[in-house]
Amino acid sequence: MKKIRRTALVVGAGPGGSTAAYYLAKNGVDVLFVDKETWPRDKICGGVYVPALYPMLKEMGAFDEMMKYQACSITEFRLIDRDEDYVDMKTEPAMIATRRFTDDQIRRAAIRQGADFMENYEATSLIIRKGVVKGVHGLYHNQDMDIEADITVIANGSHSELTRQLGLFPDDPDLTMYCFRAYLDGVEGLAPHMAEEYYVPKGLTGWSPICTTWLNPHYGGKQAVLGLTITEKALRDTGCSAMEFYEYWRDNTRFGHERLKNATLIDKFRGWRLPGSRKLGNGVVPGAIAIGDSIGAAECAFEYGIPSAMTGGMIAANVIAQCAAKDDFSFEATSVYQKLAEDALNPSLGFNALFRDELLNKEDVMKDFFKYVKAQKDYPNIMFGDTAAKYMMEVLHLDLGGNKSNQ
Ligand SMILES: Cc1cc2nc3c(=O)[nH]c(=O)nc-3n(C[C@H](O)[C@H](O)[C@H](O)COP(=O)(O)OP(=O)(O)OC[C@H]3O[C@@H](n4cnc5c(N)ncnc54)[C@H](O)[C@@H]3O)c2cc1C
Repeated sequence: MKKIRRTALVVGAGPGGSTAAYYLAKNGVDVLFVDKETWPRDKICGGVYVPALYPMLKEMGAFDEMMKYQACSITEFRLIDRDEDYVDMKTEPAMIATRRFTDDQIRRAAIRQGADFMENYEATSLIIRKGVVKGVHGLYHNQDMDIEADITVIANGSHSELTRQLGLFPDDPDLTMYCFRAYLDGVEGLAPHMAEEYYVPKGLTGWSPICTTWLNPHYGGKQAVLGLTITEKALRDTGCSAMEFYEYWRDNTRFGHERLKNATLIDKFRGWRLPGSRKLGNGVVPGAIAIGDSIGAAECAFEYGIPSAMTGGMIAANVIAQCAAKDDFSFEATSVYQKLAEDALNPSLGFNALFRDELLNKEDVMKDFFKYVKAQKDYPNIMFGDTAAKYMMEVLHLDLGGNKSNQ
């Protein structure tokens, strides 16, 4: 069996893994990052890269290339409640693009920076000796191959068998979202810069705060990415399948009918499981740091997970670079990651959790929020994040405690 040994190994070349590989290489650390797919690869996603990521993407030299694949920039956001009342608000302009192309630019940035990359390598399990992760067992073109490393960054996404092996994988059915995505043509009435988020209509028995359908416009709004998000708990409670939720929405709601009456699917409806979180879970064990979807670091109200994955990747790489400089990869030295990552990520994870628990989850509060939004002097020229924060503090008297929207 073939064996390789490196200082740092990153498993997964999504936004989290590629960012970690980029910053490891930039800091002069010997790094190999691997992915089971042949690249470029698709990822089921709405494809929104929030502007908070732009400085990092620019530093990596990936931003300009990614902009070439931008399908639109969203600057507005419509929330539609279960009675089909709605409010419109502004957001910071955010790039929407097809992940197949844009993730590849982040991966290429890491390679340009000096990281070695191996595709078609599937990590199958962790090598653990005396309680310390020493790398991975895996398959390279179906041949056994072990990769050993002083430190392993686990960034292999929301189906990670590696974080399951460590007991770090989150499995809360109320936070685990089943998300479906399809590209559509012939969509009607969708404004070219406005994303729409529809909460599941009342006609369905049982619901969850994030049972939503959403449409993100592509290329002028005639095309769109359609998403459907349902918690695992809601699927169990209602006994509906995801497709039944979607068909109900399309056939029984005003917006569903208006938007989709002449629409055709460009590709298949494809599903993905996404665990979200209210705050960052533990990602550090002796010999490894787990980031991004592999520990369920996505936000729990709007499903954004690229920011957590990339920010986690950058922080992990910087901590590992300090460990490498001292040749100290002890658990104590790598654990520095956890607090730094919590400080960086918990404000927006916490904001999403409050928005979901205190607002989306309470139908009367959501209605009151809509009234509040429409009564604002400059409506609809108001920012979503600021307005939601103001409402939660002024009307719901919540202590946001540093939590902040990234929209
Ligand atoms: C329907 C849907 C819509 C979403 N919309 C948005 C959005 O608009 N904006 C946003 O910010 N977030 C969104 N998200 C969340 C976002 O997609 C994820 O949070 C993000 O991709 C996490 O990045 P990651 O690098 O952790 O994992 P991933 O992007 O999943 O990358 C993991 C990589 O690991 C590789 N891999 C997996 N297993 C192995 C293995 N065993 N060995 C080697 N390689 C492996 C995979 O091939 C993959 O390339 C959405 C999610 C869904 C499901």
